[in-house]
Amino acid sequence: MNKTIIKDQLNRPLRDLRISVIDRCNFRCQYCMPAEIFGPDFAFLPKSELMTYEEIERLAKIFVSLGVEKIRLTGGEPLLRKDISVLVEKLSQIDGLSDIGLTTNGVLLPQHAKSLREAGLKRVNVSLDSLNDQLFGEINGRNIGTKPVLDGIDAAIKAGLGVKINMVVKKGLNDSEILPMAEYCKNEGLQLRYIEYMDVGATNGWRMDDVVTKKEIYHILKNKYELEPVDPDYFGEVAKRYRYKGTDTDVGFITSVSESFCSSCTRSRLSANGQLFTCLFNGNGHDIRDFMRSGVTDEEIIKRITDIWNHRNDRYSDERTAETNKNRKKIEMSYIGG
Ligand code: SAM
Ligand code: SF4
Ligand code: SF4
Repeated sequence: MNKTIIKDQLNRPLRDLRISVIDRCNFRCQYCMPAEIFGPDFAFLPKSELMTYEEIERLAKIFVSLGVEKIRLTGGEPLLRKDISVLVEKLSQIDGLSDIGLTTNGVLLPQHAKSLREAGLKRVNVSLDSLNDQLFGEINGRNIGTKPVLDGIDAAIKAGLGVKINMVVKKGLNDSEILPMAEYCKNEGLQLRYIEYMDVGATNGWRMDDVVTKKEIYHILKNKYELEPVDPDYFGEVAKRYRYKGTDTDVGFITSVSESFCSSCTRSRLSANGQLFTCLFNGNGHDIRDFMRSGVTDEEIIKRITDIWNHRNDRYSDERTAETNKNRKKIEMSYIGG
């Protein structure tokens, strides 16, 4: 089937796919995988449950035929998946896929940055929520200081990868790090993206009061820096960006809580075991992996994905209140990948 005909079957564009390649992680960030819940006995997915790289490649090609232009690999911690560069290499050969990204906590980048770059990866997002070693150790739940992450960022830059930094801001936890992080990223010429703390999953004890909004962060930055707005690069760009005046360095905000963007949401997500989710906050995944393993054709998979996408009516962030968080089946960030 011709690509335009396939795309026309969708009632709204599907441009962006996030693929979680593993649900395990070497961190236990308190806003994502609290250590008291994700302890030594936690049942992560066994290897047989994970989609193989061949399965991910097949689905990626199908999603590209449906209009997906960007794929982001995530997790858990994607660099814990064995030979992740092999997957990147497979994806980078897909015609029509213009962008592959990877979100990581950075710790394993010194080992992997070079092979990822050689496999065709162009950029990584590294999560770093504080420059203060003690605080960072508390946040990541493993008492790991910032050095392994900063080394990872260096390794990525040396390997020729573009680097953006993700910082989740939680009130009373790391809002004191808003300016130090801005200063560090500005000096290094790295784009920092402040992410509003979200009520993903059911384990992080989220409260609306814990959210530091874009507006609040922006005011803190504005007291110190001159900022000018930057136009979005494309329809549906999630980060709202500003530039430090007189520099090439941007700073961005992911405003999922305070200024939701459901009406322009063109993203879907595949969990590591091949469940398709049409919204970060819709806990009802649709099985794709077993359907694919039953021997169906690509056309049958396309039909299944099209049906799922055309029936979605997710607008959780538009409707969020402190209360909506409570009575909903939700998926953990570490499982779906953010
Ligand atoms: N382990 C990798 C990492 O930390 O970058 C990739 C997976 S992680 C789930 C993807 C992104 O989600 C990270 O940038 C992380 O900071 C963000 N994240 C996790 N929990 C969050 C929450 N409750 N609210 C907002 N962002 C969150
Ligand atoms: Fe792991 Fe990333 Fe979640 Fe932290 S945010 S626990 S590094 S998956
Ligand atoms: Fe998309 Fe759901 Fe986020 Fe809204 S809440 S932007 S529909 S993922």
